[in-house]
Amino acid sequence: MKILLRVSVSPWFKNLLRALRLLGVLFLLVTCSKPPPPASTSEVRVVIFHTADLHGRVHRLPALAGYLKGERAKERRRGARVVTVDGGDFFQGTPEGDLTRGRLVIQAMNEIGYDAACLGNHDFDFGPAGVRDLAARARFPLLCSNVFESSTGAPPPYVKDAVTLPEACLELRGLTVAAPRAGEELAFLDASSALARRSWTPGMARVLLSHLGIERDRRLPGIDLAAVLGGHSHTRAIEERAGGFPIVHPGSHGLSVGRLELVLNVATGDVRSFKANLIDLRTWRGPEDARVRALVRRGARRIAKLMEEPIGTLSVGLSREHAADEGASSPLGNWACDALKAALNADIALLPRSSLRASLFAGPVTRGDVYEAFPFPDTAQWVDMGGRDLRGVLERAIGDGGRPLLDVAGLEVHYSPSARASRRILEIRAGTETLRNDRRYRVATTSFLIETWLGAPPGEGTRILRDVLAEHLGRNSPLRVEYRNRIFRKVE
Ligand SMILES: [Zn+2]
Repeated sequence: MKILLRVSVSPWFKNLLRALRLLGVLFLLVTCSKPPPPASTSEVRVVIFHTADLHGRVHRLPALAGYLKGERAKERRRGARVVTVDGGDFFQGTPEGDLTRGRLVIQAMNEIGYDAACLGNHDFDFGPAGVRDLAARARFPLLCSNVFESSTGAPPPYVKDAVTLPEACLELRGLTVAAPRAGEELAFLDASSALARRSWTPGMARVLLSHLGIERDRRLPGIDLAAVLGGHSHTRAIEERAGGFPIVHPGSHGLSVGRLELVLNVATGDVRSFKANLIDLRTWRGPEDARVRALVRRGARRIAKLMEEPIGTLSVGLSREHAADEGASSPLGNWACDALKAALNADIALLPRSSLRASLFAGPVTRGDVYEAFPFPDTAQWVDMGGRDLRGVLERAIGDGGRPLLDVAGLEVHYSPSARASRRILEIRAGTETLRNDRRYRVATTSFLIETWLGAPPGEGTRILRDVLAEHLGRNSPLRVEYRNRIFRKVE
């Protein structure tokens, strides 16, 4: 711990110091010159502001920007070096985030003035091309030390391994959990292996931006870190690891900010002391930042107009649940699978029920309604599958005999919940015949299911499932879907 020295000085000298300090502040305000040197030339005081998991909550950003800009100016006047970082998952989760593919959030983050951000798993939702686009727009580096291109084993050129901030005596690195939507082009190493491959710049304090979640942060190898600034688990917490460094998790959605103050040895980057706290912005009453507010309002207005756009009419509502039997297929799932199967000219369609997030009601349907029902940006794709593999996938979908995890088209599935695991399916009908193990089927599904379940190379198709469904509804309006169950649980 740092030891504070007290030196007694005479009152007139105190007054002189106070006057000089005041003059210094005025001078700074007028000229915006560089901050005064720290109290001792052998140490530097660094204040790191930290957000994570903003998840497209753009309406929180004007307040966040107001707080950060005000506090940073205050800290700089006090001689601190100030750094602003984010722990990933910037945009996924709202129409403003998703429908701009993260661009609106990155624009606001540019305006806020971030120094670096770690990529989160959802920042890969639009594949490597999406990250490349955001990296080109961001005025700060996007960090990730554990992502590699599958073909070359090298880090992708648009992702930075580390950033060094010499004036703050810091080196920053990012780690993230594997992102299934990144596709086959990219591979993620586990945190320990990735860190073992990297060397740090000597003389700098090592700060890890982690999008691993707090559980994994607690198990990180002790590699002489100054701090772990985390995200992913949406936790609000400050903990001290056995090695004596803090783990800070600032929560999510821009509702709170982490503040970590480090006093560092300028020559070695060693931490002399630290102090961490969380600021709850829900109770903060300072002024919003006008520039970020204008930016967000403009962007949100465009999205609101897009979301109100009518795209079709439903004569009958499509619920995402079967009213009486949770084992049965759902009206919404049946329709989505039928539309997908038709669009990709497939024999069969499969959709994860977890991709269906809201029911569609009878009457006019807007783009916003379809967004809420299918918020994920997975693309519609098909794969060529043998009957035996397909049966395996359906057994997995039945799982422990509870609610099946998939909805289907072109199939009728009968199962027994009480049978032995992987022996629960009694019969599968494909069209007019029983599913044949020796036949190949063209199976329409989403990029997400292909990556996570099917283990097959993706086929053609780059259109987002939601857009395929919106187009089907538009073309067939007013749409009347007769519900017939496709998944039958044997009553025992
Ligand atoms: Zn995450």
